[in-house]
Amino acid sequence: MEETKSKRVVAIVGRPNVGKSALFNRLIGRRVSIVHEEVGVTRDRVACEANWNGERFELIDTGGLGHFDKQVSEDRIVAGTEEQAKIAIADASFIIFVTDITAGLTPLDEEVGRILHESGLPVLLAANKTDNPEREENICDFDQLGFPTFAVSAIQNRGIGPLLEELIPKLPQEKNPTEKNPLRVAVVGRPNAGKSSYINRLLKDERVIVSDIPGTTRDSIEVPFTIGKGESARHYELIDTAGVQKDTRGKGAVDWFSNLRTDKAIERADVVIMVLDAETGPTSRDKKVAAKIIDAQKGCLILCNKWDLAEEADQDITQTQYLPALREALPFMGFAPVLFVSAKSGYNIKRSVEAIDYVAAMTRTEITTGVLNRVIEQAVAKYPPPIAKGKRLKIFYATQSGTNPIYFKVFVNDPANARSNWLAYLQNQFREAFGLEGAPIYIKLVARSRP
Ligand code: GDP
Repeated sequence: MEETKSKRVVAIVGRPNVGKSALFNRLIGRRVSIVHEEVGVTRDRVACEANWNGERFELIDTGGLGHFDKQVSEDRIVAGTEEQAKIAIADASFIIFVTDITAGLTPLDEEVGRILHESGLPVLLAANKTDNPEREENICDFDQLGFPTFAVSAIQNRGIGPLLEELIPKLPQEKNPTEKNPLRVAVVGRPNAGKSSYINRLLKDERVIVSDIPGTTRDSIEVPFTIGKGESARHYELIDTAGVQKDTRGKGAVDWFSNLRTDKAIERADVVIMVLDAETGPTSRDKKVAAKIIDAQKGCLILCNKWDLAEEADQDITQTQYLPALREALPFMGFAPVLFVSAKSGYNIKRSVEAIDYVAAMTRTEITTGVLNRVIEQAVAKYPPPIAKGKRLKIFYATQSGTNPIYFKVFVNDPANARSNWLAYLQNQFREAFGLEGAPIYIKLVARSRP
């Protein structure tokens, strides 16, 4: 599955000297110092949080290309600009493409435009240096690039409002659960694990307000509910696959439809609750459900239900004793926290809601680029990548490119030089550093040549 660009990240792209840094400073509303580095070396991007009337997004300025010395060859400027555009595309969910209205359309603008069109990302063109209304007449120069165009002046603070008013509604929505956009929680597991019993228990909790008539689709019953009031209210939608009317067809058909329902519920969920039966432990059927959750790259909480029966069968059993066998039976679910519950007695049902919130928050975690790169540096220092295919993997830098699922994009010399066990080690280092319990994390290697 393709990663999703759920982050509100806007990149400023354009050839040197069009005023990218000036626009960056204008949009974030303050000056950031730009560190000049060796000419021609791609400086790390500058990223800042911008806040426009309470709408927050991250703004990145991909480079110090405006700071090239005069003696840098035209070729290097072209290669460098293209490189910057590609980095921006990899990182951002939205692009502001800056041109210079006093210079008109240049071949390099056309080249950047072509790269941006290929990316498929939404782009707004800001024709900068429109310091006075007369200059606005030249804006049609940029029509042929095929992007919505705005005449702006970063220095004079002209035209910035209309640009942002166009941009902000197009950014990915912030994913805090609201009444309109509740946290979708699928409850899945094999028949008789206790899904229906768990849902019934949960909805009877005195804090839970079932806010609406459940919606019924062919595949599931969707139960919207709220916990808390006013500002602090949290909104959920339970996707209940078990509550659907029992099939009257033959056993084969029942299984087939139940599998299909499970797939669909998982697809639609933000967080999946996998219900296991503690009395029997994980079965091969549970493993199939687990595989679906992993394939769909969803955040997951495991509820080990019927704990009352496990205790009844063995008075001395503890959860700590029980857990290793459960983990061993579901080896790829190591990232998912396990909570022991009893739908019958109500044990830990309240805590299960806290656990859902916790996993949901983990799947939405955003790690700053600085922290991420420091963790990589430490990981490399502790255990450098081994030689593979005759060369050593060289890591340039990494960024987080998505939440739920969490994706880290790591720019390297050549992905072919990566050993899978070293990548597994890196992933473990990320987990150790960031926790991220319940959230699956992915590392994507991207080849990057130096300009
Ligand atoms: P579903 O098919 O996963 O929805 O499972 P049900 O909720 O229908 O439960 C299957 C059976 O297990 C029913 O007989 C329930 O009464 C029983 N059950 C569910 N949860 C528990 C529990 O925590 N403890 C005990 N002792 N029985 C349970």
